[in-house]
Parts: sequence; C-alpha cells; structure tokens
Amino acid sequence: MTFMGDFSYESRPVRVVFRPGAAVTATPAEVEHLGLRRVLVVCGSRGEAVARAVADALGDSCAGLHTEARMHVPVEDADRAEAVARGAGADGVVAVGGGSSIGLGKAIALRTGLPLVAVPSTYSGSEMTPVWGLTEGGAKRTGRDPRVQPRSVVYDPELTLSLPVPLTVTSGINALAHAVEALYAPDTSPLIALMAEDGVRAMTAALPRLAADPADLEARGQALYAAWLCGSCLGSTTMGLHHKLCHALGGTYGLPHAETHTVVLPYALAYNAPEIPGALTVLKRALGTDDPPHALWELAGRLGAPRSLAELGLRETDLAEAAVQVAGQPYANPRPVTADGVRAVLEAAYQGRRP
Ligand code: NAD
Repeated sequence: MTFMGDFSYESRPVRVVFRPGAAVTATPAEVEHLGLRRVLVVCGSRGEAVARAVADALGDSCAGLHTEARMHVPVEDADRAEAVARGAGADGVVAVGGGSSIGLGKAIALRTGLPLVAVPSTYSGSEMTPVWGLTEGGAKRTGRDPRVQPRSVVYDPELTLSLPVPLTVTSGINALAHAVEALYAPDTSPLIALMAEDGVRAMTAALPRLAADPADLEARGQALYAAWLCGSCLGSTTMGLHHKLCHALGGTYGLPHAETHTVVLPYALAYNAPEIPGALTVLKRALGTDDPPHALWELAGRLGAPRSLAELGLRETDLAEAAVQVAGQPYANPRPVTADGVRAVLEAAYQGRRP
C-alpha cells in the first residue's frame, strides 16, 4: 500500500478519565488537578440527582448547583447561568449531563473564561470539541473557541445506564455521524481515520447489545468509549452536508437533535458516496458491509429508531425552503452542494425510503 502523507492535525490539551463510577470518584480529583476551589455544577432538570451526587462529592469545592440546562442553550439561559456563576464567585464549571448541559457549561466558559470540566451522560461528543452554540430569536449560532473546550472529561459508563433505549440508539448514531463526516472532512488525517474506524466499529457493536439489555455495563462502556473517539473526530475536523442539514432542521424547524442525525445520516452519506472512496473503504471495514448507507439505515430500523423526517414532525411543505437554506451557505463538502441535490436528500429522508 502506498502512503500519501498530506495532512495537518491539531490536538488540544484535555485530560480524559474513563471508568465506571468516575463521575463521583474522579471529578473531585480533576477539579483539584486544575487548581479549582469553587466550581459551579450545571445540569438539566432530569440529571439533577446525579449532578447533586457529584456536587456532594466535591464538598467544599462546590460553589453551587445550577439545574436549568435545556436543549440548544437559549441565550437567556446563558445570561442567567453566567450571573449565577459570577454571583457564586465560581472559579470553574463542572457540567454533568448530555450535550445540552455541556452546552450551558460552554456558554459560561465562553463569557467568563472559567475552565470547564465535563461529565457526559450521552454520546453527543460535545465534551471533546471547542464548539459552542447559542439560540436567540429562533436561530442557533455556533462558533469555535478554545476557551469552551473542557480541560478534563470524566467518562463514567454507569451514568449512561439510565439512558432509555430510544435515546441510547439515536445518541449513538449521532456519534457515528461525527466519525462518518470526519472521514471525508477537508482536514481529516490518518489519526482521525483510526479513531473514526474504531469508533464506528465499537458503537455499532454496542448498540444492538444495549437495545437488548440497556443495563449491560460492559456494552455501556463500549458505547461511551466509541462516543469519545467519535467526539474527538468531531472536535478535530470540519463537518459537511450532514451536520449542516441537521443544524438547519434543528435550529429552524425545531426537530430533535439525535433523532434528526439518525434519520439524515444514511441519505447524506449516500449523496456523498461517489466522491469519497477512501472514507467508504474505512466504513465498509468498520461496518462489515459493502453498502454503508444501507447498513446505517438498516441498523436504525432494526433498533427501532425513527427513519423518516415525517415521523419527526417535519412538514412536506418545509422541504423546499430547508433545501434552499442548506444549499445557500458555503461550506466544505466532498460533493458540490446544489439546491436540487439537497432537495433530493431531504425528500428521501422525509419518506425514509431505502437509501
Ligand atoms: P440532551 O443533552 O438535550 O439530552 C437529551 C435528553 O436526555 C434530555 O432530556 C436529558 O435530560 C436526558 N438525559 C441525558 N442523559 C441522560 C441519562 N444518562 N439518563 C437519562 N436521561 C438522560 O441531548 P444530547 O443529544 O446529549 O445533546 C444535544 C445538544 O448538544 C444539542 O443542542 C446539540 O446541538 C448539542 N451538541 C453540541 C456539540 C458541540 O460540539 N458543541 C456536539 C454534539 C451536540
């Protein structure tokens, strides 16, 4: 095999601790390692019990518990959380929960410069990225800023035991989407390809086991490990058509995050397939198939996940406008993004037919 080296790769400093029970047993040590003495713990209302256990374990190093994280970080939530952090004299933030909790932690970090520790409870991968998002007036803005990249990430498979099977499956496929798009990103590299391949392999092995037995701790660990790899891919590369489409569908039409990724991924991959032979070789190996878009569509169906945008509540009359919106912005994608092309992807995803 010939090796054509032409890439750049940037890694950001982050400590990762991974073990069952780590949310409570490792977070205090991570906070201490960063020299922090008064951290604000943030979470969503559903994650309050776990976050309270983390806050208790932090003891005197905890300056308060803020339980108001919601989907897509509305800007008024960020305003309030920033005020709480400043009012408590916090010197750091610990976010416990899914992408929404970590998103609120990132919003505080962006505005205050406080260091962030993330204790993820889903497979969203936000903990491994310098990307923040804020929603204002119905539109979601995102940006990259090294200040929001968590300094420490505490992965605790026990935290994910409570993830219901439907969210386990869609959150896991959300993670797969990061790996898939990283493989054909303009800034991909051999290290990304390794992480993406093992991430896809581990996640697709874990999800059927978790759909059968969500309490299987070993499979939980495998899925969370995969989420780490896929999140690392997301944080180090530039995403293409798939992520732009999902961003528009979530931001403008209010579609749910992980479910939207699950529905769109097979169709976005099928659209790009003619232009990405290298990525397809890796995906065929990782998925053990000759037809990666079909394998992803089949996996979602087999595990009971939604497979059409119609099921998620998109209206057929929204397809044309969504296509124009996504085709109208310039971004990197291996196959040129045209309004007709995006429309075809959206129509197929709307119907949920075999890609
Ligand atoms: P989420 O954080 O909104 O969680 C979904 C639901 O699951 C919530 O109701 C939550 O309370 C619940 N939940 C979370 N963990 C649980 C657990 N272990 N057990 C039971 N219930 C649990 O959703 P998400 O998919 O993790 O994150 C989506 C958000 O994160 C979106 O706003 C998305 O844009 C953002 N995101 C950002 C990045 C980034 O790099 N900035 C990456 C991925 C996602």
